[in-house]
Formats: sequence, C-alpha cells, structure tokens
Amino acid sequence: MIKLFSSDDMFLMQSLKSELDALAIPYMIKNEYASGAMGELPWQDTQPELWLIDDTWQARANQVMDALMAHSVSSPGDKEQEWVCRNCKEKNGAAFDFCWQCEHQRHEV
Ligand SMILES: [Zn+2]
Repeated sequence: MIKLFSSDDMFLMQSLKSELDALAIPYMIKNEYASGAMGELPWQDTQPELWLIDDTWQARANQVMDALMAHSVSSPGDKEQEWVCRNCKEKNGAAFDFCWQCEHQRHEV
C-alpha cells in the first residue's frame, strides 16, 4: 500500500474519493473521522489519509489528483474556495469575509 494523499480539506478528500470510485480504483482512508474530534485528540497533526491498496494504480491515481488540484488552482476568483488568512495562516470557509480566528479581513486574491 502507498499513501496517495493527506489533507484536512474534506471537500478535496471527498472529490478525490468520488473520482477513484468512478474509476474503480481500490483505496482506503485512514484517520477519516479524526479531524471532527480534533479538540479531543492528544495529537494535533492527524489528518485523513488516502492510501492506495493496489500500487499498480499509482500512475492513474496521480493523474486524477493532478486534475483535481489543477481544477482547484485554476479558479482563484471562485467565491466557493477556502481562503487562508494572511495574518494567522488559518483556513477559512468561502462564506466568511473575516478570519474566524483573528478577525483579519479577507484579502482578495
Ligand atoms: Zn487570521
């Protein structure tokens, strides 16, 4: 097994899972529910991880991932995108105009 992807971005993780499902690429998720209970965990860096069960799919899976990444990067003006606070580096949902953590105003990309 090889680790293909690790992220606490559940939207990206979900997109990747549906792509792999569509192509019938076998995978498994580790730490899938970790991020929801982050405050209760003794460790801080636990992110959901997507592992390929069959290494022979690696090249195909990487293509899928590249396509997903390219898609999310190619539309920086998209209001649905998450944004990262310039002040404290916290990730914020697209719906917020101010950082939930430090109340720094959202910057336009
Ligand atoms: Zn902030």
